[in-house]
Parts: sequence; C-alpha cells; structure tokens
Amino acid sequence: MITVTLKPGREGPVIAGHPWVFSGAIASTTGEGPAGSLAQVVAADGSAVGIGYVNPRCSITVRMLSRQIEEIDASFIGRRLKAALTVRRAVVPPDTTAYRLVNGEGDFLPGVIVDVYGPFIIYQSLTAGAEVLKPLVVAALVRLLSPQGIYEKSEGGVRQEEGLTNTAGILWGEEPPPLVEIQENGCRFFVNVRGGQKTGFFLDQRENRALIGTMAPGKRILNGFAYTGGFGIIAARYRIGHVVSVDSSEAALRLARKNWQGNGLPEAQGDFVQADMFSYLRETTESFDLIVLDPPPFIRRRQDLKVGISGYKEINLQALRLLPPGGQLLTFSCSQHLSTSDFFHTVLFAATDARRNVRVLKHLGPAADHPVNLVHPEGSYLKGLWLWLGD
Ligand code: SAH
Repeated sequence: MITVTLKPGREGPVIAGHPWVFSGAIASTTGEGPAGSLAQVVAADGSAVGIGYVNPRCSITVRMLSRQIEEIDASFIGRRLKAALTVRRAVVPPDTTAYRLVNGEGDFLPGVIVDVYGPFIIYQSLTAGAEVLKPLVVAALVRLLSPQGIYEKSEGGVRQEEGLTNTAGILWGEEPPPLVEIQENGCRFFVNVRGGQKTGFFLDQRENRALIGTMAPGKRILNGFAYTGGFGIIAARYRIGHVVSVDSSEAALRLARKNWQGNGLPEAQGDFVQADMFSYLRETTESFDLIVLDPPPFIRRRQDLKVGISGYKEINLQALRLLPPGGQLLTFSCSQHLSTSDFFHTVLFAATDARRNVRVLKHLGPAADHPVNLVHPEGSYLKGLWLWLGD
C-alpha cells in the first residue's frame, strides 16, 4: 500500500479529524497506484495517523477515510452507511421520502454523495477515490435499503480537478423513470433525477421550504430562482398566499407547473415566469410581501469572488427595494467560496444602499441530512438569512 509521510507537526488537524491532507503538508510518498488508491498516512516520526485515498494531481492530495489503520472493505463501508442512515432516521421528517443519505466528508466518506428519492438512489462520486469505493457503496446500499434502482450521476468542477469526466448511468437494478415521485413535508414533487439539475432536487433546502409553510397566510410571494417550484408550492399548499415563480429554465418551470397541479393547487394562485431574475427584479411592477432568493452559486471558482459578490449584492438590493415595510426576504447563497460572514456583509451592503432597516429573524442553513464535520467547516456551503424589513 502507498504510504504518505507528513511533514513534522502537520499531523495535528488529521488527528483531530480533519479529512483533508494538502500537498504542502506531505514530506514524501512511497509506493505507487492509480488515482484513488488507498494510502496509509503516517506522521514524521513514523506513527500511524490513519488511512485515506490519494490523488497526487490534486492539492487535496489525501482524503481520509479512517483515523485507524483498518481494512477498507464491505464491512467498513457497510458500517459507514449504517451510521449515515441512523442520522437520517433521526432527522428526516415524516411525509418525506427524499433525503441525502451520504454527504461526503460529513459522513466520513469523502467524495461520496448518495441521495434517496423514494425507491431510487442517485449516487455521485466527486473524486477518484470515491470512484474506487463505488462498487462497495452500491453493494452496501442494496443490502441496506433494497432499492428499486441505483443510478449514477457524477458531475461537477471537483471531478475535473480530480481528472475525471462526467458520467451517468445505471449502477444496479432498474433505471429511474423520467420523473420520480417523492414526498416532501407532505407535498408531492416530480423529480427529473436523470435530466434535472444536480441529482434532480435541491434537498439541502428542505427545512427552509418547510419554514415558509409555517408563515402567516395572505402573502404575495415572489419565488426567485424557483427551479421546480419548491418554496412556492410548500407556501401555497399551506395557504400562505399567491406565488409568482421565476426561473430562467423553461424545463424547470414546466415541471414546477406540473408539481403545482400535482398538489391540487388552484391555477389562479400561481404564476410562472421564465425570466432572468436580475432583469425581473429591476423591471417588475408587481408588489410582494415575501421574496425568496435562492440563486445558483455565483462563485464557482475562487477567481469569481468579486463578480459573484456583486451579483449577490444586486439581487438583494433589488429585492429589498421591492419589499414594503413589514415585508420579508429569505435570501441564500450556496457558493462554497463565499464565507457566511462575507455573505451577511454583502446583504448588509445591499440594505445600506437600499436605505432600509433590516432585522434578522433567523440564520438559515442546510437541512440536517447534510451534516458537516465540526472540524471541517469547508464542508458547508449553504447559508441564508430570514429578514424582516422596516421602513
Ligand atoms: N429554490 C429551488 C432551487 C433553486 S436552484 C428549490 O427549492 O428547488 C437555482 C435555480 O436558478 C435553477 O433552477 C436555475 O435554472 C435558476 N437560474 C440560474 N440563473 C438564473 C437567472 N439569472 N435568472 C433566473 N433563474 C436562474
């Protein structure tokens, strides 16, 4: 097996449970193997630190699987998945059949993402190591959940850095139908797991969508960046008000309409507008009491930070201008490269420019089925604010 020896004093974070070893912390590597091979990690004095998998071409050269030297076999993966399922059984609400079962590093399986959509499972490997683990993970999923089918949809920037191309296809059992029906907080959604964005549904927003369902009724809601209607459908289902769903994707809006109808919601209560949100916010003549801003990541690479921040500022500024006193804003960023405090400051600058008094009702984050290791804050990306507007 490959042995990775750390520089003196660099074992601390790994011993504390941080799952990443950067190339700069490594003194030497012995042994060879393809990207994703298992490696034993040792401190400068030769003492064992744990076991992980390597990809020499990445600045995150090793991702740790265990702080013990143990076999990475079917039994190990089975234990990891069982532990992940125990958390989901504790935190996923009733009347909900879609959830994230494995959240990569947050479930001590770096690079491995597993989303459950009713009887179907979507597997995503982000790294070469996760590719190597795939057969073990699939076998363990079959044993644990007896799904109807497991489908792979692996894509994204991390894969490129790892030297991997995008890949999709059936891994086990039946191929999911074009639309898989799920329940979320008692609402029905059709999910296009194969052709939709990400693995088909933004599961990380479930608790924030539930939040909107608990608000007082009688609102005019702008669901900005609506995708397949999530926030607006939950709001309307719980009689919160009239919803205008805006998204640039026609396919997403088509499914949003279908989801609206699938929940028996009155047609007159929902409008669906295909538009660029930046233009829509500037040009609309409608008035709203509640605006949701859930954009795609404006900052995909660190170099995009400045441009991305100005994008966040712009949409928040326009939304704050549109809202009356007593209006509310649910605003989010899912850019991993934007820290929570930089996001909050961006919203603050927008509020200052809009000359509005803004109060924070709640800090928002991902649903509990997206756990993040306490020593690995890099694993968190979704942050949000629930704001109340004054004069
Ligand atoms: N809130 C949604 C998820 C939003 S994902 C939910 O709960 O399911 C982000 C969405 O923004 C995608 O549907 C994408 O099509 C849309 N989008 C991206 N850029 C946009 C733009 N400039 N204007 C409007 N929509 C945009």
